[in-house]
Amino acid sequence: MAFKNRFGWSVSRERLFEECRRKYFFHYYLSWGGWQRTAPIVSREAFKLKRLVPLALWRGQLVHYIVSKILQSMKVKGRIPDKGDVLDYTTKRFETQLDFSARKQYLTEPKKKGGRINIDWLALFEHEYDRPLEKGRLERTRQECIEGIEGFYASPILPVLTETDPAAWTIEDLDHAEFSQVVEFEGVTVFVKTDFMFRRDEGKFDIVDWKTNRPGRNNLDTTAEKNRAQLGVYGYYAVTVLGESLENLRLLEVNLLDGGRVKEFTITEDDLDYFRSRIGAGIEKLSQVLNNGNTERNEPLPPGYFPPIESSRCRSCNFYRICKMENSPVRFSEPG
Ligand code: SF4
Repeated sequence: MAFKNRFGWSVSRERLFEECRRKYFFHYYLSWGGWQRTAPIVSREAFKLKRLVPLALWRGQLVHYIVSKILQSMKVKGRIPDKGDVLDYTTKRFETQLDFSARKQYLTEPKKKGGRINIDWLALFEHEYDRPLEKGRLERTRQECIEGIEGFYASPILPVLTETDPAAWTIEDLDHAEFSQVVEFEGVTVFVKTDFMFRRDEGKFDIVDWKTNRPGRNNLDTTAEKNRAQLGVYGYYAVTVLGESLENLRLLEVNLLDGGRVKEFTITEDDLDYFRSRIGAGIEKLSQVLNNGNTERNEPLPPGYFPPIESSRCRSCNFYRICKMENSPVRFSEPG
């Protein structure tokens, strides 16, 4: 049975739309089907480019993966794995993934085999674009991966977890990378994807969002707003799908690059109303670039509705090659 390009809403999807509509078009529409040999060459190229990651994103992905493995191990064995072993494992994954990307093995090896993700599969932006990967930046990334894991071990959340029943833990499954958490909103699928959820003995229910933000390196207001929106979606999901009550619900943001510091959020009925209207407005916005606004068919309007931007950021955009790179062998051109 053929896959269908399903319309859905998520915080990151709307964020991409706001950043650059042309990029959104490439990511969600042009690249669709690009994994097939018979697809047009520009779709195949878009599909490849879509999966590139910059260093900072790679760091976050690797730390998330290792933390999910630690939690799975704690759940099965009932004890915290040795920190030294985990740090060794982190370094090993870092090296193996880096090597995989540097050899451009992502061009020939599938990311998923037999329904399981190859965890060493990596396609770094710099490798694909043959840009220099300075030693200092690479070393800092390696160090931050280590710090992220140390942040988990130092976090005040760890002693809390050891007092709870692991049978009630829900850990993000990064080995299969499937969206199992969705909520239907006005006929549209909203993707949720929580990192981790657990229940305390007194019945309180916690949703955890692992962060890898270097303190002071981001625009704090923007980051706080984005994080708040993401947590709001989690809260909405917990109340409407899991049936949790607001009084029992806590949303925890744990910044692993800040010593595992925990920020706690609670949400009110007013917040839920706000999130409902935010999701509704987001869906409305994204459906305006669909044929007849039809989210079921999910056919994009012509590319002219997805204008490119003029920005210095274009050079570090995944789709630079098909969008703006001079002398590129594969360029996207608008029909007509
Ligand atoms: S290169 Fe620039 S205009 Fe083109 S998709 Fe990327 S961000 Fe948008």
